[in-house]
Amino acid sequence: NKNIPGYLPENKIKEASPVCQRCFKIKNYGAYVPVSLTDADYKKEVTTILKNMDIVIVVVDVIDFEGSFDAELISLIKKKKVILAVNKIDLVPGRKHPAEITNWLNGRLFLAGITPADIVIMSTKTKYGVNGVIRKLRYFLPKGGNVAVIGATNVGKSSLINGLFGKNTVTVSKYPGTTLKTVKFQLPKTQTFIHDTPGIIPKGRISDMVCESCNLKIVPSTEISRKTFKLPYDRVFMFGGLVWMRILTDYETAPIFTAYAAKEVQFHETNVDKVEALLKEKTGNFLTPPCDDYFSREWKVETYEIEEHEEMVFKGLGWITVKRGPLKVEVHLPKDAEIIIRDAFVEPKRVSMEQDYD
Ligand code: GDP
Repeated sequence: NKNIPGYLPENKIKEASPVCQRCFKIKNYGAYVPVSLTDADYKKEVTTILKNMDIVIVVVDVIDFEGSFDAELISLIKKKKVILAVNKIDLVPGRKHPAEITNWLNGRLFLAGITPADIVIMSTKTKYGVNGVIRKLRYFLPKGGNVAVIGATNVGKSSLINGLFGKNTVTVSKYPGTTLKTVKFQLPKTQTFIHDTPGIIPKGRISDMVCESCNLKIVPSTEISRKTFKLPYDRVFMFGGLVWMRILTDYETAPIFTAYAAKEVQFHETNVDKVEALLKEKTGNFLTPPCDDYFSREWKVETYEIEEHEEMVFKGLGWITVKRGPLKVEVHLPKDAEIIIRDAFVEPKRVSMEQDYD
């Protein structure tokens, strides 16, 4: 059946190692072949696999922690022996010690009711921490066993598996949802089997609401940009054309905050009466991304008050850290997008607060 994943043209069936048409296109042409699993398919596949696992490696993206450690994933790993692999630390702004990141994570994990057997801070890009994962597997499973690797799409799950094997074992794809079924590999010189599961697409991520080319711009891969703003009442701050927010804090106490996102997402401040025209005329120009489809979504308006030392996180996009608060805002964003308020991940620099403003 041409219309379902795994379709193999008849003349290929007798080949020694037949590859389905979809995988052939992804591998040879880097083509995007959108076949996503439904939530129910995903849950069934992963729940079945997890039943027989000794350890579950949960890969999360430190830059989009809320967008990658989502409620469904948490419900799947409760009561499991978990190694939490926190990836992409090469992207963390400023110099942050891994111990500081672990401390911050422990607070987040406590809130989620998860106590992992171990946490590894890593970057599959720089290879930092990848050997640590192998060491932990040897420690927990001296005689071998079964290990599942699970995580949201785009967190670096395939890159970790390739890092564990030291070669291109699975297809690292810039497109979410490449792996549809669990694939099993034996870790060399061990009796340990690694099961690579399909990636879940969590709810509420802005990066999943745009086309593939905008997705590549929004998901940070090289560096995070940050900029500090001091905006009075009624001024507007925009994350490109993706999300915008109007300041509601009193005029006398202009709040100060720093915005963080992938470097292709342009920060912009403007007056409230200019927003509509900007979104209409400039999107696709200096307010890129997103593309036109994004605006056909239903939008919502929400009001928040964020205290100093707190952050407002836009799942799958970025965050703002409040340096001088409280920051009261009216946020305009797509209806399906989710916002989370959390303790600051990147602590504000109290002393140089004013100098940092640009
Ligand atoms: P998967 O969907 O979870 O299997 O993720 P992939 O391994 O395919 O990676 C998704 C994207 O994130 C790719 O563009 C990778 O190059 C990038 N990526 C993966 N790990 C890292 C990392 O440690 N640091 C950075 N900066 N990018 C990474």
